[in-house]
Amino acid sequence: MATPAMFRPLTLLPNEPREGFVSFTVVEHPLARHYLSLLRDRDTSPELFRDTTRRLAYTLIMEATEDLPLAEREIETPLESATAHLIAQDIVAVAVLRAGLGLLDAVLELLPDVKVGYAGVQRDEETAEPLEYYTKLPELADARVLILEPMLATGGSLSWAVQKVKESGARDITALCVIAAPAGVERMERDHPDVRIVCAALDRELDYRYYIRPGLGDMGDRLYWTL
Ligand code: URA
Repeated sequence: MATPAMFRPLTLLPNEPREGFVSFTVVEHPLARHYLSLLRDRDTSPELFRDTTRRLAYTLIMEATEDLPLAEREIETPLESATAHLIAQDIVAVAVLRAGLGLLDAVLELLPDVKVGYAGVQRDEETAEPLEYYTKLPELADARVLILEPMLATGGSLSWAVQKVKESGARDITALCVIAAPAGVERMERDHPDVRIVCAALDRELDYRYYIRPGLGDMGDRLYWTL
C-alpha cells in the first residue's frame, strides 16, 4: 500500500502572467464566489449542488472563452445593415468522467455548436494515478478544447486527459476546474505548461487521501448522490 502523502501548501500567484508557467486564472466574480460557497456547504442537497455547479460553470466558461476569435459579417437587422461578430473557431468540450459531466450542461447551453468528447478515467485509490476505462474524442485540430475536470487535486487525471487530446491533435487547450490544489497546478506546470487553467478557487492543500482541503468533498458523489 502506498504511503499517504500530505502535500505542503505552496504560494502560487494566480491571475499574474508568468513567462514559462501555466496560465492560471481564478475567477473572482462575486457570483462565482457565492456559488462556490454553496458547493462547499455540506448541507447543500444534491439537486441544489447540480444546479449550482451549472451556474458556476457559466462564469468559468465566460472566462475561458473571453479571447475566442470572431469573424465579421454584414447582416441585415429589420431596420438596416450591421456588422455581426460571430465565433470563428470550433469548440470542443471534453468531460472527464464522471464529475466533469456536472459542467457539461452549461457548456451545451452557452456554446450550442460545441462538439463533446468523453474521457473516462478512474483514480487509483492507493496511488491517485489515473486508470483509463473509456475515451471518445471528436476532431480536435484547430479547435478550442475545453477540458472539464472540476477538482484539480494531484493533477494526474487532468494531465492524462491533456496528453490524450494532444495525441489527437489539440493545441489550444483550456481546463475548466471548480477548485484547484497547489499540487495539481504544480503538476500541470511540469507536464503541460502550455495549457490554460480557469478555476473558481485555489485551495490550501491535499490531505492524505488526496482530497482537496477545505474543498467540497467528492464532486462526483455530491453531484450524483453516491455518498
Ligand atoms: N476529487 C474530488 O471529487 N474531490 C477532491 O477533493 C479531490 C478529487
